[in-house]
Amino acid sequence: MPQVLERISWAELTTFKAGGSVRYVAHCSTVEDIEESIALAKEKQLPFIVLGEGSNVLPEDDDFEGVVLQIAIMGITEREEDGNIYVTASAGESWDRLVEYVTMRGWWGVENLAGIPGTVGAAPVQNIGAYGVEVRETLLSVDAYDCKTGEVVHIPVEKMNLSYRDSVFKHENCYIILRATFRLSKEGVPHIGYPDLKKAGEAGVPLASPHDIAKAVRTIRSAKFPDLSVFGTAGSFFKNPILTPEAFASLSSEFGAIPSFPHEGKIKVPLAFILDHILGLKGYRKEHVFLFGNQPLVIVAEPGAHAKEIEELAQEIEKKVFERVGLSIEREVRTSSSLEYKNFF
Ligand code: NAP
Repeated sequence: MPQVLERISWAELTTFKAGGSVRYVAHCSTVEDIEESIALAKEKQLPFIVLGEGSNVLPEDDDFEGVVLQIAIMGITEREEDGNIYVTASAGESWDRLVEYVTMRGWWGVENLAGIPGTVGAAPVQNIGAYGVEVRETLLSVDAYDCKTGEVVHIPVEKMNLSYRDSVFKHENCYIILRATFRLSKEGVPHIGYPDLKKAGEAGVPLASPHDIAKAVRTIRSAKFPDLSVFGTAGSFFKNPILTPEAFASLSSEFGAIPSFPHEGKIKVPLAFILDHILGLKGYRKEHVFLFGNQPLVIVAEPGAHAKEIEELAQEIEKKVFERVGLSIEREVRTSSSLEYKNFF
């Protein structure tokens, strides 16, 4: 039976460190724990939510009358075949611990994704990405518990619809990821084209090995993003808009030169630029929440902030962007209510 705690604050379960309380939190370190936690939800006729470190979730101030399954299945194994290294990590492992584990061994593939908060199980859900690399490039498959059938299923990466910070797991709350397998390699090419990494290289920071790159990325991130031990945040709150060439041309003809990057036949525009240079919102504050000065895509909550304040600031930003530049921006962060697994009993 998993350890089940009652009336735990969302603030303890999420990196936003805000929100009301949760009726039951079940600490799941095995598949049996998951099954028993779902049985608990069923017995009480309550919805349930699956959570890792809660690093991409905006909870609500209202109490959640349901069960949170905190996935804590641990373990990393590897095997070498055909010159590749196949690493399988359990869903509850810290993503960054996995990056450290593989880069220490000199294996290439996920070094640019160092320092991203969250668990291994959450990485495919969000198709995490940073500094020009996405997890879909090395992810091979996951094993997941299918809540519809109670079976463990093997899902190859081709079936996950992975795209920019998106996957099938964001749209179908029926799988619980148990472990993920990655294909890494002993030989690799550094991806150090992003401005901050380029600058680090020019300043003499070593970037020759996966471990060097992971270390440099962590240093850059810790200087550029809010201190999680003090502030509440879920990293980038919004996605960068992906525009058709026509929409981008019309935007630049109205607002002048805007940085842009080709993205699968379309054009990705850094939202941070729009928020900063067109709307002047860098550092914009409402009571206890604000857009981070170093990166306005990041919403920061001071200790004691209400979840409602975060939601209201996010809505205000969405409205301002729409009114000023005509873009409906999308969120990376998910609300806790959108995470509910329902209708299984
Ligand atoms: P940055 O390097 O200042 O660049 C600003 C934006 O321009 C980024 O959002 C990035 O898009 C895009 N960009 C820059 N150089 C690019 C290139 N050579 N090719 C394609 N796109 C390029 O960004 P930053 O805020 O310091 O973040 C650095 C990286 O970490 C980014 O990849 C960012 O996505 C990632 N990150 C993610 C989170 C999160 O919570 N999801 C939090 C912090 C940082 P992309 O965002 O699409 O890469």
